[in-house]
Amino acid sequence: MTKPFAGAQLLPMAEDNIAVAADILRNGGLVAFPTETLYGLGADACNEAAVEKLFAAKARPAEKPLIVLVQDLGEAGRYGLLGEDAQLLAGAFWPGALTLIVNRRQSCPLCREVNPRGATVALRAPGGDIAMRLLRAFAGPLTAPSANRSGAPPPRTAEAVMDGLGPAIDAVLDGGSCAGGESTIVDLSAGRPRLLRQGAISRRRIEETLPAHRSLV
Ligand code: AMP
Ligand code: MG
Repeated sequence: MTKPFAGAQLLPMAEDNIAVAADILRNGGLVAFPTETLYGLGADACNEAAVEKLFAAKARPAEKPLIVLVQDLGEAGRYGLLGEDAQLLAGAFWPGALTLIVNRRQSCPLCREVNPRGATVALRAPGGDIAMRLLRAFAGPLTAPSANRSGAPPPRTAEAVMDGLGPAIDAVLDGGSCAGGESTIVDLSAGRPRLLRQGAISRRRIEETLPAHRSLV
């Protein structure tokens, strides 16, 4: 028997509700939460069923890889191979709106669905206080694509998440409005660093951080 689906719980911001959200995630649920850019849709990045549920909720094409949120460089190093460029960039911009694409470690515990075809992982330590508190309470890596259906405008408020995804997810942690924008994405997985998406952090700031002979392509 399937239980009737009640839709997402709206959780006002409070320490108790961070713990409630972390429990839902531990049980394989989907929780939207504010980051410094947009509301992201969190799922346990090591739980295949949870990540599949996320792709279904967003109607996201299965081959489009997900960014994974981590607490810091130390945690990132358990999932990906971090060279000198990664250490410099993460050192300068984490926690913040910079996503680094690096080669996946052989022992990486993230589930395959995060990037089904590739040998890389996209990692970011988010700047938003609520996102970081949720990561600490959950104590593991979380996916966080924007909390909308694929192709819909990215949500900046809990209400916008509810309107778009309410029936398809388990909870929304309401932390007010996000500033908007996206993370900047730098691919460090092959040869010279490559700027894949210019977001909140400018190309110039990335270039100033990298040594001259490693400038962006
Ligand atoms: P979104 O979370 O929807 O804003 O999208 C994240 C972006 O990062 C998408 O354009 C993905 O294709 C890209 N992305 C995520 N992981 C990887 C990866 N391992 N390699 C290349 N691009 C990635
Ligand atoms: Mg997007």
